[in-house]
Amino acid sequence: MSLDRLREHKGAIAGVLGAGLAATAIYYIAKKSYSIKVRQGRFRDVSLPEDTYDAVIVGAGPSGSTCAYYLTKNGAKVALIDKETFPRDKYCGDAVCTPALNILEDMGVLKELVDNNEAHFADSGGFVSPSGLAYIGQSQEKLGGAAACAVKRTNLDKRIAWKARDTGADLREGFEVGKQNPTFDQEEGLWTVSSTEGKEVKGRMLVIADGATSKLAMQMGYCTEPPKGVCSRAFIEGGTHNVDFDGVCFYQRESLPGYSAIFRHPNDELNFCYYLIPCGKDGMCGDVSEADLKRLHDGALKSDPFISKAIGPNAKIERMRAAALRLGSQGVPQSYDDHLIIVGDAAGHIDPLTGEGIHTAMMGGKAAADTILEMRECGDFSAASTRVYQQRWMQLFGHDFAYSKKGAELIYKYPILLDACANEMARVGDKMMVRWAEVMTNMRPKTYFLRPDVAVPLGFALLREWWAQKVSGRPDKYKTGLI
Ligand SMILES: Cc1cc2nc3c(=O)[nH]c(=O)nc-3n(C[C@H](O)[C@H](O)[C@H](O)COP(=O)(O)OP(=O)(O)OC[C@H]3O[C@@H](n4cnc5c(N)ncnc54)[C@H](O)[C@@H]3O)c2cc1C
Repeated sequence: MSLDRLREHKGAIAGVLGAGLAATAIYYIAKKSYSIKVRQGRFRDVSLPEDTYDAVIVGAGPSGSTCAYYLTKNGAKVALIDKETFPRDKYCGDAVCTPALNILEDMGVLKELVDNNEAHFADSGGFVSPSGLAYIGQSQEKLGGAAACAVKRTNLDKRIAWKARDTGADLREGFEVGKQNPTFDQEEGLWTVSSTEGKEVKGRMLVIADGATSKLAMQMGYCTEPPKGVCSRAFIEGGTHNVDFDGVCFYQRESLPGYSAIFRHPNDELNFCYYLIPCGKDGMCGDVSEADLKRLHDGALKSDPFISKAIGPNAKIERMRAAALRLGSQGVPQSYDDHLIIVGDAAGHIDPLTGEGIHTAMMGGKAAADTILEMRECGDFSAASTRVYQQRWMQLFGHDFAYSKKGAELIYKYPILLDACANEMARVGDKMMVRWAEVMTNMRPKTYFLRPDVAVPLGFALLREWWAQKVSGRPDKYKTGLI
């Protein structure tokens, strides 16, 4: 190849080399095992004072309760505190992805959910692309199980918190940590956490697990900005709709990279959600913002051709509720400090492409517990040791956040990429749909789409779509409403 030809192709060559280097780096990061370096910490032979805990966990959602369960199961003394009393509601799409199902199984919670008919394992599912290409297939046979399961958060969170309590955690409900920041006694190496009513609890480690708006992480300066994403939720009464699938995402062009979704519960009740994912200009979620959420949510239910047809004219729909999404560690550059760890939504552990965070909350909660147990052995709770927690969650799921963000930007700029995925599903069927489901539910990293055996067929699908849209003039089903 001549020098000129080389220059001509330097962009492509740099791209290939970059992708190769990134893949090698990911390979080594994925293989590396992180451990605590300090072996003789200050508290190694110091027994815990009476009435104090190894860890005080603020927030008994999936992250806090999972952390509490694994700590108590392995002999640690834990106070698990929450301002609410379980069962309590939490606005959510209720889609619990495989990595969370694996942890729930290990905890014995999945069996309880199944025995009480509180879990619906998704089989038929898929998505509708921005130009209205719909693919709904069956996933369980190809996957050897469900990629996701719908569980109402009243049931899910109650069962995880109660499991932690039954394993030995001191679950303190109605304990709201207020404006007064927890205080740390350097000499004793103990935090004091106070409730708005003046109750106190002391512990060696403080685990902040109080959700996306995390009052604690904000007040203590670990989180520097409010969450930028938002999502709605409305239940639709079972028996009043026509939906015959388990879970479908609808990528309306106007709100990309956000999307709406329907998930079906065991009692035929539906959960309808509309996710707005931060992207583009600051404060924006693509071309829309939080102020548009109600209009988009109501508009989708009323006039989206796919959704309105699926739910039918007699659906009994609850009023819209909404809550914040803190995605991809947004505003929380560091999730550890001396005697302190931040987990789940409080640390921004939500996938920036999908808005899903139950599995990452639970994986992070477990990683936090593993790290605290090791720190307990070594008697060192300094940032040199808590840092290992951040390395572990980065290895488990955090490295994927950058690719998810890139994916969201690409979908926003080039919606045809989603059309190409739907096109490829239409060509090869469930095989492609299952790959999609695996990546979207964090069973595989987002880089999976870069593998030649996946990327090359998708490249051809992109060409087919481009031809169909730009040359053949295939009508956009969202625009025509003809589905
Ligand atoms: C509308 C919506 C839809 C979503 N859909 C999905 C989905 O389908 N699938 C998915 O995987 N993820 C979804 N997510 C994200 C998911 O809900 C979160 O990632 C998950 O709940 C994080 O768990 P957590 O334990 O970190 O926080 P949370 O579940 O928010 O738990 C925090 C706990 O802290 C307690 N608390 C808060 N402040 C205090 C205080 N001051 N004192 C004491 N206790 C306090 C709260 O009462 C709560 O129990 C969705 C989010 C939203 C908003």
